[in-house]
Amino acid sequence: MTTIANSKYEAVIGLEVHAQLLTESKAFAPVSTEYGGAPNTQVTPLCLGHPGTLPVLNENLVRYIIRMGLATECKVARKSIFARKNYFYPDLPKGYQISQFDTPICYEGNIHIELEEYDKTIGLTRIHMEEDAGKSIHDQDPYHTLVDLNRAGTPLIEIVSEPDMRTPQEAYAYLTKIKQIVQYLEICDGNMEEGSLRCDANVSIRPRGQEELGTRTELKNMNSFRNVERAISYEIERQIDLVESGGEVIQKTLLWDANKLETRQMRTKEEAHDYRYFPEPDIPPVIVTEELLDEVRSNLPELPDVRLQRFMDELGLSEEDAIVLTESRYLADYYENVLEKLDEPKAVANVILSEVLRVLNERSISIREFPISVDRLAELVKLKLDDKVNSSAMQEIFNEMLTEDKPPEELAKEMNLIQVSDSGFVEPIIEEVIASNPDEVEKYKGGKKALIGFFIGQVMKKSQGKANPKQVRELVAKKLDS
Ligand code: ADP
Ligand code: MG
Repeated sequence: MTTIANSKYEAVIGLEVHAQLLTESKAFAPVSTEYGGAPNTQVTPLCLGHPGTLPVLNENLVRYIIRMGLATECKVARKSIFARKNYFYPDLPKGYQISQFDTPICYEGNIHIELEEYDKTIGLTRIHMEEDAGKSIHDQDPYHTLVDLNRAGTPLIEIVSEPDMRTPQEAYAYLTKIKQIVQYLEICDGNMEEGSLRCDANVSIRPRGQEELGTRTELKNMNSFRNVERAISYEIERQIDLVESGGEVIQKTLLWDANKLETRQMRTKEEAHDYRYFPEPDIPPVIVTEELLDEVRSNLPELPDVRLQRFMDELGLSEEDAIVLTESRYLADYYENVLEKLDEPKAVANVILSEVLRVLNERSISIREFPISVDRLAELVKLKLDDKVNSSAMQEIFNEMLTEDKPPEELAKEMNLIQVSDSGFVEPIIEEVIASNPDEVEKYKGGKKALIGFFIGQVMKKSQGKANPKQVRELVAKKLDS
């Protein structure tokens, strides 16, 4: 297969991302959006499309989308209107979805992405508000489709990018950034696996140097960032192979099959619905006042790029470490909460970057599910900084703390890991190690100074990890050099 890197073609990618908002109630009805309720318990006559019901706009939906707009350098329309997008599915009993069409509330924004070799700005065409549909369930009854309308009317925002991305990696970085921003803004939990963030990818190719865009296909059904990246790569290669062998790309919608790692056709654009958009007559235009804008602006939290810079400037972290620590708002919060207990930015960062992240990866959990509290982690790091335990002991205690809810110092005592910095304790051990390794002593004295590590290792082992390595190094050097 041809790959994009060595090809005379370049890819063009534009993403449409839906984010499910964390408002407490639905977009147009006063009923809970909480996930996991028994089917059809979170519905009102409005969600069921009963005649005579009228939607009332949830003000927080407007606040949340303006937050997103301001965080992504969008312009905010002072007046925008809702539209009806008509289509009938059982999971949308009204027969139309309330959305926005030609007057989105936010438009012309930017998202800055960082890749290994370069940074780039991706334009946002628009961000608009709409409502989600319910869920049709096809696999629980052999004869019928069941429907759960709890999700019907849950507020969504749709973030539409310009066709500014050129590689699957850029698309991945863009999605990562969106997830990070919505999490920082606390408007969406950003979980693609659970469907609170969803992405459709539009992909086309064109000969390098050509301005005009090629015909695109639209990829759906990708439920992880990795799958978006893979699906786009697959589709770029498929299009290049097709064109190279004399074929032509046809505009259509493709579904990504994450098991077979390939796309399959869903429908061609010719069969696509005509949504017959028209202005929603039941909801007045959304007017954004100066007051509302000010309110939202003054409540904006610190955004990821600013926090990253602050971690470098004020806490003295390297860029590499600051990137990892700010990638998730919750991890950055955890880190700063530990610092409130123990103001040692580097030592705390080190433990989080090595030990904590290792556990999160191994268990595939988020920091919010991590079992060690902020206070206990601070106590652990302090044990080390106070020279009460050495670093390998700290690791052992950390592992124990994952399942034992005791104070770290108590664990250190129980595990017999309290460091002994009393020279009366290590000196005999050092004597013993020197006496039983005459060959190494000779080599050391003959100039092979690196052997000091060997002696330190032996002493540490014999002390069962309780010796203070710094002190051991000093004493061993003194003995051998005398
Ligand atoms: P629709 O609403 O029919 O999906 P839009 O014009 O709103 O169409 O475009 C949707 C997305 O497709 C946007 O993110 C846009 O940047 C992207 N897009 C449009 N044309 C192309 C193209 N030729 N190649 C790749 N992406 C494209
Ligand atoms: Mg589309």
